[in-house]
Amino acid sequence: MQYSSKDKIEKNYDVIVVGSGLAGMTLANKMARDGRSVLLLESHNKLGGFATWFKRAAGEHIFDVSLHGFPVGMIKTCRKYWNKDIADRIHQLKSVRYINPQFEVETDFTKEDFIKVLNQKFGVTLEVVKAFFDELTNMNFYDNSKMTNGELFEKYFPGRNDITRFLLEPIVYANGSNLEDPAISYGIVFSNFMSKGVYIFQGGTDTMISMMKEELLKNGVDIQLQAKVEKIIIDNKKATGVVVKGHTIKANAVVSNSNLKSTIFKMLEPENFSEVYLKKAAEVRLNTSSCQVYMGIKKGETIPFVGDLVFTSIDESFSTDLILSPLVGSQTFSVYYPDTRPHLEPRYAIVSSSNSRYEDWINLSRDDYEKQKAYIIERAVSGLEKIIPGVRDKIDFIDAASPLTVERYTLHEKGASFGTKFEGLEVSMGMHKEIEGLFHAGSVGIIMSGWLGAANYGVIQAHEVDNFLSRLEKEALRSIN
Ligand SMILES: Cc1cc2nc3c(=O)[nH]c(=O)nc-3n(C[C@H](O)[C@H](O)[C@H](O)COP(=O)(O)OP(=O)(O)OC[C@H]3O[C@@H](n4cnc5c(N)ncnc54)[C@H](O)[C@@H]3O)c2cc1C
Repeated sequence: MQYSSKDKIEKNYDVIVVGSGLAGMTLANKMARDGRSVLLLESHNKLGGFATWFKRAAGEHIFDVSLHGFPVGMIKTCRKYWNKDIADRIHQLKSVRYINPQFEVETDFTKEDFIKVLNQKFGVTLEVVKAFFDELTNMNFYDNSKMTNGELFEKYFPGRNDITRFLLEPIVYANGSNLEDPAISYGIVFSNFMSKGVYIFQGGTDTMISMMKEELLKNGVDIQLQAKVEKIIIDNKKATGVVVKGHTIKANAVVSNSNLKSTIFKMLEPENFSEVYLKKAAEVRLNTSSCQVYMGIKKGETIPFVGDLVFTSIDESFSTDLILSPLVGSQTFSVYYPDTRPHLEPRYAIVSSSNSRYEDWINLSRDDYEKQKAYIIERAVSGLEKIIPGVRDKIDFIDAASPLTVERYTLHEKGASFGTKFEGLEVSMGMHKEIEGLFHAGSVGIIMSGWLGAANYGVIQAHEVDNFLSRLEKEALRSIN
């Protein structure tokens, strides 16, 4: 059932899930299907977390915030843990393009095509390309390798800034990875994408989330929106419930889908954790954030097909530091053609994205903030004009989002758009070892981020929570006998 935001929930649950991002929702759905009583609490007025959309101009324009592309694995995850109808709407993007001073490439982003481009366009021998892909495929999370992205690229493509750009730019734009980050997280994310190309959900994020909501309710998940959890209650080192608007709701287990650091440092008291754990948690680095410019095309106007995802840059060479700076000349255009939402009147929308640092925005005066927004809006339109001449006159809605916008809407500290850097994974996975019945499932470690990573992490943690609840039940039975 769906509670109203004013309801005071009195029922006791097997598990309360704090936050309805893809990890939280997938965990809630799986656990309810497995027979557990589940309450899903979301502070926003809609489900989805970053998997979200918004309407402007009285609903004339719909914009997707994070529907730019995810790996093929999402089909299997949705079929197994959601339903066939959701999985069947996942479609492959036809064309991914790179346009920069070093090269122009059009690819379907499959492994076969990348091998061809590396060999034929960049002149790398097939032996080296094969060795590079073998190294990625054989990367094992548990090997604890210290190799960085920079070292990985130098090993196979020494001195080739253009190849580093080709292989890393799409990942940096998305999750802010840099050359010093562990190669393992790059390897896993890149290998996921590299298998069979890039996919999106046909119907738009709004359709997907409404189908997921329907499935959650059908499986018996109770939902409350506008329900911000202020505190997770810990009693004698055990999680026993949460507090929403001063009201306590009880459960045998609590899963936080909120940002890892906010969970530990804002919803819990430090004395509940060991010193070692708190130190590790304090040292976890957040990922960077992002800036986006949303452009809506006038009703009745059309634009030609120029690719679905276009990585563009005017910077002569590639630098991960520059790519995060406000002065960056690179941006990625996601072009939404009418077949993104075939059930609606034909409309086009374009979203320009670039990765950004919160620190470059938070200290700006109101005036400078507006100037900076105006700058990225102009950069987006003039960049787009190079790909679609005359597009400026076809745009009738335009606005920009900064890291501060991301923070405001998602409660993610510093607007981090892909959770935490690599070290966050250990802290997230170890939470239930510190406090019985308390789990975390949400973007961490880069590999558990993005639509697929987050949804899969929800499944992994659903198993952990289920094991814990089964153990509680066995102990209760033993004490009765
Ligand atoms: C601009 C942008 C573009 C992106 N593009 C892509 C892309 O193309 N492909 C891709 O795969 N991924 C993309 N991502 C990343 C992807 O969207 C996220 O990694 C993923 O959706 C995160 O899911 P999550 O489960 O970690 O939770 P989140 O989406 O972070 O959701 C957490 C939820 O918890 C709620 N919450 C937090 N605290 C509380 C509280 N105290 N009480 C109640 N509720 C609370 C929040 O309101 C939120 O709804 C993008 C992200 C951004 C920001």
